[in-house]
Amino acid sequence: MKRIDCDLMVVGTGIAGIAASAFASARGYSVVQTGMATSLMFAAGCFDLLGVHPVEDGTVVEDPFAALAELRKDQPRHPYAKLDDDEIRSAFGEFLDFCGESGLEYHVREGRNMQFPTPLGTLKTTYCVPRTMIAGVRAVEEKLPCALIDMQGLKGHSAQQIASILGDKLNVVASGSIVFPEMEDNAEVYPVQMGMALENPRVRGIFAERIRAVMGDAKVVGVPAMLGQYLTKDVMDDLDRRLGVEFFEVPTMPPGIPGQRLKEAFVGALRLRGVNHMLQKRVLCVERTAEGFRFEVGADWPQFEVFAKGAVLASGRFLGKGLQADRTGVREAVFDLPVTQPEKRNDWHEKSFLDARGHAMNSMGVETDESFRPLGADGAVVSENLFAVGSILAHQDWMRQKCGSGLGISTAYKAVKALKI
Ligand SMILES: Cc1cc2nc3c(=O)[nH]c(=O)nc-3n(C[C@H](O)[C@H](O)[C@H](O)COP(=O)(O)OP(=O)(O)OC[C@H]3O[C@@H](n4cnc5c(N)ncnc54)[C@H](O)[C@@H]3O)c2cc1C
Repeated sequence: MKRIDCDLMVVGTGIAGIAASAFASARGYSVVQTGMATSLMFAAGCFDLLGVHPVEDGTVVEDPFAALAELRKDQPRHPYAKLDDDEIRSAFGEFLDFCGESGLEYHVREGRNMQFPTPLGTLKTTYCVPRTMIAGVRAVEEKLPCALIDMQGLKGHSAQQIASILGDKLNVVASGSIVFPEMEDNAEVYPVQMGMALENPRVRGIFAERIRAVMGDAKVVGVPAMLGQYLTKDVMDDLDRRLGVEFFEVPTMPPGIPGQRLKEAFVGALRLRGVNHMLQKRVLCVERTAEGFRFEVGADWPQFEVFAKGAVLASGRFLGKGLQADRTGVREAVFDLPVTQPEKRNDWHEKSFLDARGHAMNSMGVETDESFRPLGADGAVVSENLFAVGSILAHQDWMRQKCGSGLGISTAYKAVKALKI
């Protein structure tokens, strides 16, 4: 096994792990990060802070900071109750700077959520919107004359369906399909293929003329998320200029280009900062040492021995495999930390699958102190330099509360600031 020494080991490459590596590398810590595929790949590209509260009523949040104040009162054990507004604002500020460094432009309306169209014909509520989707927000807010256009052969994405469902929320002046240039004979087309092809100016020119033929008098044009894989800004600026409109992307069914863009941009930027990325590898075992922790890392068998003074556990819930369930209960898979859960397996779920309150299963997780240091079975902090961040934390239901990225970003921020190395 090859030996590596570092200040901090980050377990997980989802949004929480990426944020932890970004905050730690900015503070001069040497970082090793490992993890397998993450739910980042399924992301629509936006970062939620708090989209629904209370979940029982399904109330969509307009002002996330006002709703956070309510949430802290209603759910005092929620991880957001361990963070104040200034910490959350600072976390997002620093993370969005890191996005800029990664080549990703984001838009925030201070203290206000935004909404943009989804492929289901609903409006997605979120806090930070990528440059690729911001004209969709304006289309909703200002009722700008809007064209929705899809690509023939792209499954699960119908511009006409989105237009008919969102009819009262959008001012749709045209909707229809075009055939993507040079894929005329393809029975099916895919966002990644089209995104790469649009980086070629010649293909882009033909694409623009086909869009012109169906867009009518639109001022904004929504297409599936496919406007470039690596050169998205160039593709969008060029299309906007050619047609005198503003383009926006409507996310496609996951996994899609927005998630891949995030992953590649973040990993590239962290590598430039010197973070040692062990992608498609995982922690196979860990033990405490006098100085911190010793990890064995590999795909199927140990390839690296990593000695770290501190560790951030950002291993997610069941999807990320941070939590694992068997007949006897739910366990945390890396450090074997206690997991808050109902005593009996029968109580994991409510009787109705669609119960508006959610299920106990969705709020299971690791218990921590105020700085996100996990607590052991005796209720004491396990280690001064071990932290748990993101969706593995107990007492939150990020999927229903629409707070996945915000939780990862803000808990990673507070954890890294509390490191004592
Ligand atoms: C379909 C979908 C759409 C989403 N859309 C949005 C959205 O629009 N806006 C938003 O804000 N959020 C969205 N999210 C949520 C968000 O992207 C994150 O999934 C969520 O916040 C959880 O992130 P996480 O980093 O805590 O965990 P995960 O993303 O689950 O990452 C866990 C990581 O830990 C790693 N890991 C686990 N065990 C080990 C081990 N032993 N060794 C090493 N690594 C390990 C995994 O390989 C993985 O890399 C979406 C999620 C999904 C699934």
